[in-house]
Amino acid sequence: MANKIVILGSLNLDSILQISRLPQPGETLSMTGKNSAPGGKGANQAVAAARAGGAQTAFIGRVGQDETGDFLLETLKKDHIETDHIVVDHQKDTGQAYILLQTTTGQNSILVYGGANQNLSLNDVENAHSIIKEADFLISQFETPVEVTTAAFVYAHSVGVKTILNPAPALDQIPAQLLAATDLICPNETEAQALSNVSVTDLNSMRQAAAFFQKQGCSRTIITVGARGAYIYDNQHKIDQFVDAFKVKAVDTTAAGDTFIGALGAVLKTDFSNLVAATLYANRASSLAVQKLGAQPSIPTAAQVQSYFN
Ligand code: ADP
Repeated sequence: MANKIVILGSLNLDSILQISRLPQPGETLSMTGKNSAPGGKGANQAVAAARAGGAQTAFIGRVGQDETGDFLLETLKKDHIETDHIVVDHQKDTGQAYILLQTTTGQNSILVYGGANQNLSLNDVENAHSIIKEADFLISQFETPVEVTTAAFVYAHSVGVKTILNPAPALDQIPAQLLAATDLICPNETEAQALSNVSVTDLNSMRQAAAFFQKQGCSRTIITVGARGAYIYDNQHKIDQFVDAFKVKAVDTTAAGDTFIGALGAVLKTDFSNLVAATLYANRASSLAVQKLGAQPSIPTAAQVQSYFN
């Protein structure tokens, strides 16, 4: 049976600005290319979950009352994602992200305009209790208000639904109530460092960061470290292991982490007993995503992952 996933999070239109390097202050630099594509951490993770073995995916979020919002809703529907709990906001326009992609290295720097994402409300969560209650996993990030994610996670826990938190973009602190209602926290190295104050460089420091989260009430951690792979810690199943990434030529790492989290949620068992195998699958899916340009266009289907690794 495919997992039922509910994603609470952001929807953005990404403008991908291709450049050879970042401009210096005061410098004008010509772009080498430019295009736009649907994005936003929440939406990317939903698409990744839906494409990974057909997880039944529903979304809680907000778009503006504009063409961009209509376009983003349509793109989610194409991936069979349920959009009934995406509210059209009448005050703010749809979220936007400007991705400065350095074509020489595949590295990106991102500027985000939150827009309607910032108006996601506690009321929106209450209106979505019926879908959260039916889910296997509730997944959220920090591109929507943190108090809304907290309310959703606390409710999910009260009805026995498992939760995965991707604490991105980085915050210095997570509300204690949120971490206590999180079953698996999945930061990248920068986010792990910002939250734990541990300089995350090697296996030992990843262990220390996981110990920090455990002390705060979250007993499972996966730290993704880009081209190196991912570290897994699970106190319940006594897992303390690093899974290497696949060696590929990265052209655009946008949505690598989102692909990882969506794919992970789609194949993970609710008792977390297959955490290592699910991480391996997430590594595979995200290694395909980094080989293509754009966020959602680069997210592979289960069939694409299977044929690539056959
Ligand atoms: P984020 O996008 O949140 O910063 P990471 O950069 O840590 O996340 O990437 C998430 C996952 O994507 C990694 O754990 C790895 O599996 C995969 N990945 C990222 N970059 C590469 C790369 N250059 N080559 C292969 N896999 C990659």
